[in-house]
Amino acid sequence: MATTLDRITPFKNEPVKSFADPADVAAMEAALEEVKASFGRFYPLVIDAERVETKKRIRSLNPAAPSEIVGETASASADDAQRAIDAAQRAFEGWREVPARERAEFLFKAAAAIRERRFLYDALLVYEVGKSWPEADADLAEAIDFLEFYGREMLRYAQPQPVTPIAGEENELVYIPLGVGAVIPPWNFAAAIMIGMSSAAIVAGNTVVLKPSSDSAIIAAWFVDLMHELGLPPGVLNFLPGSGSEIGDLIVAHPKVRFISFTGSKEVGLHINELAAKPEKGQRWIKRVVAEMGGKDAIIVAADADLDAAVEGVAVSAFGFQGQKCSACSRAIVEEPLYDAFLEKLRERVAKITVGDPSRRGTYMGPVINAKALETISKYIDVGKSEGRLVAGGKRREGDGYFLEPTVIADISPNARIAQEEIFGPVLAVIKARDFNDALAIANGTEFGLTGSVYTSDEKKIERATDEFFVGNLYFNRKSTGAMVGAHPFGGFNMSGTDSKAGGRDYLLLYLQAKTVSRKV
Ligand code: NAP
Ligand code: MG
Repeated sequence: MATTLDRITPFKNEPVKSFADPADVAAMEAALEEVKASFGRFYPLVIDAERVETKKRIRSLNPAAPSEIVGETASASADDAQRAIDAAQRAFEGWREVPARERAEFLFKAAAAIRERRFLYDALLVYEVGKSWPEADADLAEAIDFLEFYGREMLRYAQPQPVTPIAGEENELVYIPLGVGAVIPPWNFAAAIMIGMSSAAIVAGNTVVLKPSSDSAIIAAWFVDLMHELGLPPGVLNFLPGSGSEIGDLIVAHPKVRFISFTGSKEVGLHINELAAKPEKGQRWIKRVVAEMGGKDAIIVAADADLDAAVEGVAVSAFGFQGQKCSACSRAIVEEPLYDAFLEKLRERVAKITVGDPSRRGTYMGPVINAKALETISKYIDVGKSEGRLVAGGKRREGDGYFLEPTVIADISPNARIAQEEIFGPVLAVIKARDFNDALAIANGTEFGLTGSVYTSDEKKIERATDEFFVGNLYFNRKSTGAMVGAHPFGGFNMSGTDSKAGGRDYLLLYLQAKTVSRKV
């Protein structure tokens, strides 16, 4: 018998644009113009599909030119947050009954619409968070992948589930949604993570209060508007920009919120986890918390590594999107025999990295996200200079934009601050290891456990690292960034989070609960 699944093509990853095609270049230039012409536009809250203005506003600035206001959003008050949660709760009663197939259809339609407007979304990311063209497009491609993947996953979970037959009974297990969820994404994969977490929640039959990052609320406004354009019922996806420190606690602690889906820093994640654990008056459930947090990701360069490949992998993992990926390499751990040669080649490679306005084609590194990040990262560079030897970079670039040079600091001890604390910027600590044992111990010697990579040609080292390198996403002879939906389900161990494995087959379970129904026949 044909099932709905038969009519859906198997999931495949959306190709990322390299901008080698002149048509893509022209389209991107036009999109950048178009988005620039919309600068300063105001985006209200969206509660129950109604647009709500607020006196207070949040400005989204272009980090490459902070005097440019990419857009302004409303900023929710406690009352607005309360109304958004109420709206989501009312909408849940209807949305939970909508067949999985119809819910999935919204995700497939959204993927198609984003593909059509791809360059506009790309351009917005370039301006709003300072991504280079290919980095922006990779973010959008991942967002499309999440929509396509989770749509298909929901169809799979809606199929009859296998249970062991028992004579005299008819048994089934069905997956049902949880309720109202707070979705709280970071700014660094401003499209992919925001759309991934929201769409997973929605397709599973939940309703959402989306509190975007204050640094990337415009792209979230675009997505929420798009979903309503596609006919998503009111209240299913509410847009609630506001300061995390002002309305975050209220949303997280609210007794009608059933789950919190968070991606961001360790500090905020742990705070949310703690707050969510305490039941409020009238609360009838234990809240579920999905918290994906920071990293201190290492690439091990073994003595038998292909040196050029290792240098390239470290450079792109450390400095792609200015090192502002949770998967970014912030520690290169190099076995002693290759250490000096590695450093010299890395210095040469890093000297070729272009830092500048990401709206220009060909710029590799743009600005860091905001003034506060610039300050924090600069302080870490000072700390690093006192802890080791500056090999490359170390300075801010001239001008208003938040530009930092790609910075390499060598001879760092494994317990130095810049080897232990997440910096979230273009700063790489290089650490010398006596041998492979030492390298593995150093790699595992932080509280985090998100991604890691090993460059080696030795099968034994590959086996050992497979067993012992304690990270959620481990790679060999390739960069530590660039996880692909479906192929590399993503999430970390230890203080890197709950290991939710976004883009994997287990992910939707986090937004569902299973009900067993047994009938005597
Ligand atoms: P962040 O400062 O922790 O903020 C994340 C989100 O939490 C933002 O929307 C923020 O809102 C909100 N927030 C702040 N305080 C809150 C509170 N008390 N209650 C509820 N929400 C609150 O992180 P970020 O700077 O946006 O992102 C960078 C971090 O994310 C890095 O640590 C990185 O490693 C991590 N990350 C992890 C993954 C992963 O998969 N493991 C992926 C991407 C990023 P405001 O913007 O209004 O403060
Ligand atoms: Mg911005």
